[in-house]
Amino acid sequence: MKKVSILGATGSIGKSTLDLIQRSPDEFEVVALTASVNVGALADAARRTNAKLAVIANEGRLSELETALQGTDCRAAAGPSALIEAAAGEAELVVAAIVGCAGLKPTMAAIEAGKTIALANKEALVTAGDIMTEAVRRNESTLLPVDSEHNAIFQSLAGSHIDQVSRIILTASGGPFRTASTAHMRDATPAQAVAHPNWSMGAKISVDSATLMNKGLELIEAHYLFGLPSDRIDILVHPQSVIHSLVEYVDGSVLAQLGSPDMRIPIAYALAWPDRMPTPAQRLDLAAISRLDFEEPDLERFPALRLAREALEARGSAPAVLNAANEIAVASFLEGGIRFSDIARLVESALQQNDRPAPQSIEDVFEIDQDVRRSVTLLIEERCA
Ligand code: NDP
Repeated sequence: MKKVSILGATGSIGKSTLDLIQRSPDEFEVVALTASVNVGALADAARRTNAKLAVIANEGRLSELETALQGTDCRAAAGPSALIEAAAGEAELVVAAIVGCAGLKPTMAAIEAGKTIALANKEALVTAGDIMTEAVRRNESTLLPVDSEHNAIFQSLAGSHIDQVSRIILTASGGPFRTASTAHMRDATPAQAVAHPNWSMGAKISVDSATLMNKGLELIEAHYLFGLPSDRIDILVHPQSVIHSLVEYVDGSVLAQLGSPDMRIPIAYALAWPDRMPTPAQRLDLAAISRLDFEEPDLERFPALRLAREALEARGSAPAVLNAANEIAVASFLEGGIRFSDIARLVESALQQNDRPAPQSIEDVFEIDQDVRRSVTLLIEERCA
């Protein structure tokens, strides 16, 4: 049995992972589960899976969690050090599915403990790419991409050396505003922005998909996972979300991974790697789909994608600044504080004002992250005043 821990077990990725694990009870043993505030869902999941440790990030919720776990053998813990314990404990495979930069320290703890990591938490790799990939090498840890595009590339690489690859092509559904006008998008509501046409996901990544910042974060993620420069990573809008990404080889061959848009497929690939496991995902019926469409992304209507590429090419502190500004802007948009079109505007202004040096450590990354959060929050308050 493979020992697994899930960081962010109550979220969209966490729940899909638990669903797969519970369908294959003889294959997996759950060691630790974590959440931020959702005690009920965490305790339920711990009971269902006989987890040994349940961690709630919010320390004020510990007694509630202890009560919810009464009568089980599951130990309750809370706070940052307990999250690190969950990440670095006895599991062989750690599913990193916390949303945002909040996942960075636990993911780094898993890397430093030499774990195999099924990485969904793209913001961690975006903010600390050089530091994290260096730590993976040093600790002989393994990163398995869970993001459907990167998982598709990982599968399509099929163990080939990266020297044989001429470029990778990340597909993008285009999100709910693919054909919307700039005027329509300016006044888009949070409910419209999170209504993704193909995928069901957490609120933050759904807004990122609507701005195309998600594809921008994925561009940076792809660079760090596969070691290709920005000019060998293309983005292609493909509204049906059937082809999850493609690898073009030096001989002109192109390999792609296809499947229905169900995150349980890439999660299962990471859970079972290097084998495969069954999933209940709907089978692909290409005759019923009948056509696949492709178009270039529109960088005028979706400036977030251009900003992410600029941040990747600038390197240094720029990706961490891009991510922190985006996290604050998305949270404010979801709370009704700013307009949809303000998200990219705030990110652009944070990048323009940035003269912070490249981070040399995780502490430096957090300093940049906190500093950008403060200045973007101030900017939002000034705008709203
Ligand atoms: P959700 O918002 O659905 O879930 C986030 C999880 O992280 C929850 O378990 C939440 O706990 C926990 N969490 C939130 N904030 C903190 C914090 N400060 N400290 C500790 N734990 C925290 O997100 P998703 O599942 O959609 O996304 C997770 C990650 O996976 C993101 O990085 C996203 O970009 C990536 N991803 C997601 C995909 C998807 O289909 N959803 C696809 C590809 C990548 P609680 O429930 O208590 O709030």
